[in-house]
Amino acid sequence: MITALRPAAVAGDGTARYAVTTHDGAAFEAVYQPRPDDPTICMSAQAGCGYGCTHCATTYADVQFRRSLDADEIVDTVTRIASAHGDGQVRTVDFSGTGDASRNWAAVSEAVRRMREAGLCRSVGVTSVAPQRWIRQLLATDETQWPDELLFSLHGPTRESRRLVVTNGEDPARAMAGWCDVAARKSVTLSYVLHDGNTRAADLEALVGLLGPHEGFAGLRLTPLNGVAGVPLLPASDPKSFVAAVRDALPSWAVRTVDPIGLDVDAACGQLRVR
Ligand code: SF4
Repeated sequence: MITALRPAAVAGDGTARYAVTTHDGAAFEAVYQPRPDDPTICMSAQAGCGYGCTHCATTYADVQFRRSLDADEIVDTVTRIASAHGDGQVRTVDFSGTGDASRNWAAVSEAVRRMREAGLCRSVGVTSVAPQRWIRQLLATDETQWPDELLFSLHGPTRESRRLVVTNGEDPARAMAGWCDVAARKSVTLSYVLHDGNTRAADLEALVGLLGPHEGFAGLRLTPLNGVAGVPLLPASDPKSFVAAVRDALPSWAVRTVDPIGLDVDAACGQLRVR
């Protein structure tokens, strides 16, 4: 049960970061993004996270992991934030906040089912490290129960470079075969945060070697390293050139970058945490 939900900060563009507390004192954050054609709630799946990704503020929070959220807490949070911004409906609920939906799939999928039934949102996204176990679980269920958009963490062309970002759990790319099977049925984008350890010439060559044989994904999303205190990674020295080179080298892939939203109030990608 949610006991408190308050706007913690509002950016100049209207992006609102919410601090949420549950009946047992677990805390997490959620964000309302007033995209003109796609008002979105960035929702958390867990209070904290055990993955320890080095680019992510959750890793540097005082309390790194408390527990997974239950379906009531997820639906209640989305309902209350949506109600605070208009007619109570949002276009998209995107599980890209704290925690990983793959580690709380029973509750997240139940919440998704209820939100769809209630007409609370039209589209659901999930960002995940996407381990093999969860991918097998997804593939064993009817795809009508899947999220509409999936963003899987790649973050490097080699096992060593991926470990610079995703420090715990299996190497994300071990699930590549399963990712391809999911991408054959739903929109899957691979996520790659740009830093100085995965944007060198050798990284480009390795990335082309890894992704070149695989088509059918919706694309590759290259994101800047957003400001998070304590991050040991250094920004890429020339990210624009790297992005252009990836586009040239992988013409069959839709390569895109994203402009951060809510950066000035720590509400952008990778900036949510338990405070
Ligand atoms: S990026 Fe996602 S999976 Fe990684 S530590 Fe942050 S919340 Fe967890």
